[in-house]
Amino acid sequence: MNENPQYTLNVRDVEREELEVDVLLVGAGPANLACALRLQQLFAERGLDDKVILVLDKAEEVGHHTLSGAVMNPRGIAELFPDWKERGFPIEREVTYDAMAFLRKNGKHNRFDGMLTPPQLRNHGNYIVSLNKVVRWMGEQVEAAGIELYAGFAAAEVLYDGERVVGVQTRDSGIAKDGSKKATFEPGMNVKAGVTVFGEGTRGSLAKGLIRRLHLDEGRNPQTYGTGVKEIWEIPAERAKQLYGSVFHCGGYPLGSDGYGGGWIYGISENHINLGYVVGLDHADAKLDPHALFVKFKQHPFVADLIAGGKVVRYGAKTLPEGGYFAMPRLQGDGFCLVGDTAGFLNTATLKGIHLAIKSGLLAAEAIADAVAAGDTSSAKLARYTELFEASWAREELWGVRNWRQAFDGGMLAGMLDAAVQRVTGGRGLVKHRAGHADHTTTRHVSESRFEFPTYNDTTAMDKLTDVYWSGAIHEEDQPSHLIVKDPSICVERCTREYGNPCQHFCPAAVYEWPSEAAEPGVLVNASNCVHCKTCDIADPYENIEWVVPEGGGGPKYVDM
Ligand code: SF4
Repeated sequence: MNENPQYTLNVRDVEREELEVDVLLVGAGPANLACALRLQQLFAERGLDDKVILVLDKAEEVGHHTLSGAVMNPRGIAELFPDWKERGFPIEREVTYDAMAFLRKNGKHNRFDGMLTPPQLRNHGNYIVSLNKVVRWMGEQVEAAGIELYAGFAAAEVLYDGERVVGVQTRDSGIAKDGSKKATFEPGMNVKAGVTVFGEGTRGSLAKGLIRRLHLDEGRNPQTYGTGVKEIWEIPAERAKQLYGSVFHCGGYPLGSDGYGGGWIYGISENHINLGYVVGLDHADAKLDPHALFVKFKQHPFVADLIAGGKVVRYGAKTLPEGGYFAMPRLQGDGFCLVGDTAGFLNTATLKGIHLAIKSGLLAAEAIADAVAAGDTSSAKLARYTELFEASWAREELWGVRNWRQAFDGGMLAGMLDAAVQRVTGGRGLVKHRAGHADHTTTRHVSESRFEFPTYNDTTAMDKLTDVYWSGAIHEEDQPSHLIVKDPSICVERCTREYGNPCQHFCPAAVYEWPSEAAEPGVLVNASNCVHCKTCDIADPYENIEWVVPEGGGGPKYVDM
């Protein structure tokens, strides 16, 4: 029953408590919380009030591991709760102004607003939110509805019966670095369920194994990702008030035209702005450093003038699934569904995924309620989720940008040309179905690197370690590393020479270090700093790093992000 995945940190020789539920949701993000709430409504409508729904989350508190830009299209939440505003849904502000700024290397910029704002970046009718607050609020609705929600429980392994998913095993706690049991040892539970819903966020560690094992991505483009780095700044009130409700998206410097990405600035309160930078992980430069790009973005006069006299109060990083419709895996199988970022529900053109994540949860709930009511949770029965998706506005939206991200593979200018054609061809563009590539395959030899690092300081251009402090990241130190370097000899014998050990650059939390004074060359893994962004699991050119869950409760502590 409990077939080990390739990498597990749980011990084998213990009795485990077993818990049986009808529907288990792994991860407390917007998709799974929406799914749980709709399921509860549907079970009540069908007189199935005895069905048990359980949500597990690896964060110490719901929301601590949830981070986004975020400007939200309200369509998803309005479907779940038509009276979402009256219920107290947390909004920072409705968008009052939006613009695109093209930053130039010489410190100047061009601003495009009003009719000149690119259509995909127009945000009137959308809302600036803190996803972390949104998820906390949704978690409260879940608990108020009587649904079980356990925070601090990290799902470590998928439980299978043959090829059928029958639940998960949570991570053991109290195991020392050397693998021995400490006095505090507590074995993880086996949680069995008729249906397990994986809403673990981007590059879910269990979903990754499941997708590979059951070939859920067969015939699809490989998923491609971006890494976003974000800070919240407290700035002088006069300037913050002017920006409150404004949304700026920025292109040009520092990325230039040979990669995909850009920056953002959102006015979130009368004292605070949130700003960040996202870059596609298919960038060929072996020294690509998303955090360094963010620092350079902050040093451009357009941004530097906005944050002058302010101070950083929060930091975070996450990856986004950018591949679009053609990169989405099969959404269900025997005993399980995939939702939200885990399944690639993101509109990369508009940089929006919260409404799609919520919609995926709602659609999955419809299919699961039918399946549970019929006593048949097979893949064939749960395939109704895919049918509902294919008939929904979510599919229509994603179909309209199906070739968006891949069109930028040839660089920014080629992408913009194709994007213009996509607008008049319903998302087709110049090519009917653009093929994709896995990000780890695109890195070029380190000798070809042109990446220029910024000059850091203590006030506006902080280094990674200073920023990690503002993420609140903390893990139990005496536990096996949740970042598994599968074959350390590759790092030393090949990677140094071929790619210059890019892990030290692409990780936005200074987890990977190459101490020059060490007697033996090798990577030092500061796992405690990890903010769970999954960049290393995606971008390592040899796929030599495996991210697995640490003990429940470990990780960043995002608040108001
Ligand atoms: Fe992200 Fe990996 Fe660094 Fe953790 S170790 S912060 S998952 S890149």
